[in-house]
Amino acid sequence: MLTRWVNISDGHQRVRFKYMKQKDLKRFLQPLEPRRDELREMDSSDMTEPEKYERYKLNKQFGLKEENLTNLIANKAIMVGLYAAFKRARLAADRAVGAFEHANFSGVFSKTASDPLVKSVMKTYFRTTSQEHVTAILAILKKTRTGLHGDIVIADCAGREMGPYGGLAEGIVPLKGQAMVAMNADLKKLDQAFDNRVAALSSKYSGKKYQEKVQELRYGEKPVAEAMLMHEYLEQGETGSIHVEFSYCTSKSVDAIARIIFHEATHKFGATADFGYASSDTISKLKVELALLNADSYAFAALSLLRGGLTTPQMLDSEPPAIGAKENELSGLEIAWRKKRGY
Ligand SMILES: [Zn+2]
Repeated sequence: MLTRWVNISDGHQRVRFKYMKQKDLKRFLQPLEPRRDELREMDSSDMTEPEKYERYKLNKQFGLKEENLTNLIANKAIMVGLYAAFKRARLAADRAVGAFEHANFSGVFSKTASDPLVKSVMKTYFRTTSQEHVTAILAILKKTRTGLHGDIVIADCAGREMGPYGGLAEGIVPLKGQAMVAMNADLKKLDQAFDNRVAALSSKYSGKKYQEKVQELRYGEKPVAEAMLMHEYLEQGETGSIHVEFSYCTSKSVDAIARIIFHEATHKFGATADFGYASSDTISKLKVELALLNADSYAFAALSLLRGGLTTPQMLDSEPPAIGAKENELSGLEIAWRKKRGY
């Protein structure tokens, strides 16, 4: 649905940024309105799976808002910032793979790791100091590196998605049509299963104990089960493009955007899920096996290894915005832009 794109090529790799102009949006949505209304009035139980997906997709498309769209040609500073951030993410992948490959992991990791930064990254973001976990971390880092070195599409989130704690989502990797329908159906089943388990608690517990058990299920076990489902679907590889909130380039730094791109890249290429986030300090409570599948753990680990020191969200937040990136970042590159015919 994002119909315009800018291709930036350095001779080895083509990075495509997909976006939409404000004036495109009305033209794009208007003809879809009758169909959206028709589907809205239908009863879910009467709908076929393709119809359900169509309704889902139309709702997403109608969620696009003019004020959230970023016109990359009119906002060259954002294009420069995005590309600078992409290159940092790609370099972070190289550095992270290199660091984990070359650190000396003989024996008990916590005692003999040759690189103290690799060790503190493991402790902080993967909740382990054991050598046996290095293989799993490296495997995901390598897949992410390969993905970030291939021809890649990064699309504007354009305010469509909400973040886990409200506000605009910084990024997302959507699943493709049928996979999304199937996952939504599975999520609904999961919801029902948890409702049943909560209902069953009332016969076993009461008062404060009951409340505690309910909390544990709803806010402890359930989000983990949901994220695990996401991981399983991502692993099947039916994914769309990496989406990033382009407008964040005006407020977040190059490395902060690089962290978002890296985070989304691990979803797409490494099938990671969201079990915890550095910004909400929920990584520090994760079990190792979940940290090893956690997108933000990889993103902060890679940025830390790129920057040569343990990197926190607060550090990234205090840096100047990406729109300040230098325009000569783009010199010597081939830049082409296009609009798809029709909508
Ligand atoms: Zn995520």
